[in-house]
Amino acid sequence: MTKVGFMSLGCPKNLVDSEVMLGHLRLKGYQITPVLEDAQVLVVNTCGFIDAAKRESVEAILQAAAMKQQGACEKLIVAGCLVERYRDELMAEMPEIDACLGTRDIEQIAEVIGAGAAFELNPNPDYLYTEASPRMLTTPKASAYLKISEGCDHACAFCVIPRLRGGQRSRSVESVVAEARNLVAQGVLEISLVAQDTTDYGRDFGDPDALEKLVRALGKVAGLRWFRIHYAYPNRLTDGLLHALAETPNCTRYLDMPLQHADASLLKAMARGGSRAQFLKLLEKVRRIVPGIALRSNFIVGFPGEDEAAFAELKAFVQEARFDHVGIFTYSPEEGTSAYALGDPVPQRTKEARKRRLLELQQKIARAKNQAFVGRTIDVLVEGAHEETDLIVKGRHQGQAPDIDGNVLLVDGTPQVNTIQQVRIVKAHAYDLIGEVEAGGLESSTAAYEAAVRARSGI
Ligand code: SF4
Repeated sequence: MTKVGFMSLGCPKNLVDSEVMLGHLRLKGYQITPVLEDAQVLVVNTCGFIDAAKRESVEAILQAAAMKQQGACEKLIVAGCLVERYRDELMAEMPEIDACLGTRDIEQIAEVIGAGAAFELNPNPDYLYTEASPRMLTTPKASAYLKISEGCDHACAFCVIPRLRGGQRSRSVESVVAEARNLVAQGVLEISLVAQDTTDYGRDFGDPDALEKLVRALGKVAGLRWFRIHYAYPNRLTDGLLHALAETPNCTRYLDMPLQHADASLLKAMARGGSRAQFLKLLEKVRRIVPGIALRSNFIVGFPGEDEAAFAELKAFVQEARFDHVGIFTYSPEEGTSAYALGDPVPQRTKEARKRRLLELQQKIARAKNQAFVGRTIDVLVEGAHEETDLIVKGRHQGQAPDIDGNVLLVDGTPQVNTIQQVRIVKAHAYDLIGEVEAGGLESSTAAYEAAVRARSGI
């Protein structure tokens, strides 16, 4: 059996692509190995979104190329967004690469491995995986991502994604629901819906209310305990969708809505629109229709034209908005975007300082919000050992998405991995909560947890 080692980089949307490729490989009889040094074939599924992601992808390719020169590896395949951007350069400058596979070719992975560069790819510009695509999950057993559409029809000035992945095409509600059922049959309890813009779902097939319908349909999938919506676009958030979210018991009271900035002139320059006042009004409405909802957003600092006044506007907004979770990116100019011509006038150290200031501000807000959980008993999806110590089992409550938000660290009780259990929260930190599973007797390891939290958040 040929052994294949896989490196998957980038966002959850790319991870779904990796899982579809792994599904095909398993189906065709390849053995997937976690030990990369043993693999005869290495596949690197890359990200090409921003500078840091590109660097990470190139480092992974170089690592795989070194393994090909020294170890068991006979074939190196590079896939994903970086291929869409730099296919010719990669093939010309890295002779160790045997074949490149674009984002629309992923279901041909087994044929490409079988024949290398000799295989004639048959690119399908409208490619979209379906519930019939084989998929091998790589996430913890009870949680999975589900991609509801591919591509993007927006033209945000900083973003190269539409160039890499094409215009939006959405799966049908039936296809998404069928995949959700398949996932539940495999033991999945929680699904995270992803797309470039989930709130644009269905517009390409003429139904602007498709996401609302999908939410209500997923509400009827037996055994699906939680599902959540990521990557909502602010001006596409309809009242109908918010009501569906509020009225569907297994739709988590959680919304991830990247806003990117809050200064009106910057948002205009980003070709997105909106303002601090408009966004505050929107958040007020979201919280009114869906009480108790956890909100996450992302922002970019250092976009061309972000002076101190514009940054102050963003900072004031973050203070007022009181998000549960915030992610901050520093701007990086990307070829092929409309903002590329504006250069990169904000110095890197200013970007880093602004990022730090926002994160410090958010840390205080998050800590105060987490404090409100102390003394409450809540449902927690128990996921397994903490990456930093086997002494602690970790889980997440409904308001914590996988990988990007904090965890609930279980320091007492008897956690049952891959189940949802009642946990009493006994302590709060800025990112994580500490809890005890109701009834049971796991040895307490609070000291180990404290060390892990300090190491993680620099407290
Ligand atoms: S909505 Fe904007 S930022 Fe998001 S993928 Fe589309 S173009 Fe990029």
